[in-house]
Amino acid sequence: MVDSIGEKSKQVLNPATNETLVNVPISTKDDVASAVRAAKEAFHSWKNTPVPKRARIMFTFHHLLTKNHEKLAKLIVQENGKAYKEAYGEVQRGIECVEFAAGAPSLMMGETLSGIAEEIDSEMFRYPLGVVGGITPFNFPMMVPLWMFPLAVACGNTFVLKPSERTPILANRLAELFSEAGAPAGVLNVVHGAHDVVNGLLEHEDIAAISFVGSQPVAKYVYERAAAEGKRVQALSGAKNHHFVMPDADIEKAAQHIIASAFGSAGQRCMACSAVVIIGENDEFIRVLRQKANELIIGSGMDEDVLLTPVIRQEHMEKVVGYIEKGIHEGATLIRDGRKEMDEMPKGNFIGPTIFDHVTPEMTIAKDEIFAPVLSLLRAKDLAEGLENLRKSRFGNGATIYTKDAKAIRQFREDADAGMLGINVGVPATMAFFPFSGWKNSFYGDLHVNGKDGINFFTRKKMITSRFDF
Ligand code: NAD
Repeated sequence: MVDSIGEKSKQVLNPATNETLVNVPISTKDDVASAVRAAKEAFHSWKNTPVPKRARIMFTFHHLLTKNHEKLAKLIVQENGKAYKEAYGEVQRGIECVEFAAGAPSLMMGETLSGIAEEIDSEMFRYPLGVVGGITPFNFPMMVPLWMFPLAVACGNTFVLKPSERTPILANRLAELFSEAGAPAGVLNVVHGAHDVVNGLLEHEDIAAISFVGSQPVAKYVYERAAAEGKRVQALSGAKNHHFVMPDADIEKAAQHIIASAFGSAGQRCMACSAVVIIGENDEFIRVLRQKANELIIGSGMDEDVLLTPVIRQEHMEKVVGYIEKGIHEGATLIRDGRKEMDEMPKGNFIGPTIFDHVTPEMTIAKDEIFAPVLSLLRAKDLAEGLENLRKSRFGNGATIYTKDAKAIRQFREDADAGMLGINVGVPATMAFFPFSGWKNSFYGDLHVNGKDGINFFTRKKMITSRFDF
């Protein structure tokens, strides 16, 4: 770890109080260059380090993360604002990525075929790419960096991580623990800052691949720019996740899952439910949903039993208020107004649960990712019409159906235009051994993060053809 040579810094605020937690230095072009140089220099010996030895570092890292589980969760609450239980779960999700990466000796195996012709055999080996750059968002400061660097590094790459400038504290802590686990200097490097630093990584000739997670316009930009520079790119992006409530759904359970999905982490999850499509008339579901929204506990992430926590910054809150005004202006019916809690809790960035009814697919609040505790209720006469709404959405990260009807489940599985589906599951996020598979504008690239896709993304293949008849 070396100090930044830059003079600029940015305040990192606690979203629950708006107090300054730390000032993070903004890396300069020279800082980026020296981080990439360190990664490039470390690459040669790291790629020649036996795979089981690289994997053993993951086991030690896993042990350190587990030992520090609670402390890491508290750091997440401080800088991101989410509830402690959510943060604890996020740490667990991150640890599972390290578990997956520790399987590198099996995961990196190639393929062989003897006798492709008379006395000729073929073998495929996997090799790392070189230096990989990772750019991450504020909403999962632990899990998203751990989607990236453990697997990349276990595959023999070296890594430069640029965490969100709004939640940079955890990334530094992860780098310390990774070093304590035995990762040699230069294998993992952290730079801080915003778009200038990102551009520095995108245009650096010594970076072979970019893994990005963030909002849709930035994901598209990063994908296009890095690809134009000849880099391998995966760019995970925004979402508008639709949940379908069928007439036979268990109303109590469906409402409970939707409340947790839409309002947990203040709706700032790429798998959050932000649109509910009610199939047929279901006034009772709306009544229960509204009642549960009124009962949920709002507060700082460290408070017991809290569900709805603050959004990340005041600027974001202002943007959300703009969306609420737009929803009213475009004719949706506001049946629960979260602006009330903004006035009651002025210190932090709190917005209460907000629900719009009679939203149509053409309205801005139905189309855009608001990334806040704002939920739209849409109506459809049957599932086919409801799925048409989802098909029209430019996003396709996740979708869920609440039903016991096998026929409807199959229709949903076959026709839902999204990459991660839930059957009676509020947040159908996949685990580390499966790919995290957004569709449409929710993902730019080919190979997703995690699972076999992750291995393919972080390795390149070499084919050997051997003749033995001379
Ligand atoms: P963001 O796009 O603002 O920032 C993401 C990263 O990009 C940060 O490191 C930031 O510094 C950098 N960045 C921001 N603006 C940039 C610019 N103009 N040029 C270059 N780099 C720039 O995203 P965020 O607000 O931190 O995170 C929330 C977004 O991330 C949401 O849209 C959410 O859906 C998405 N997300 C998606 C997934 C997924 O798996 N699809 C997972 C988590 C978050």
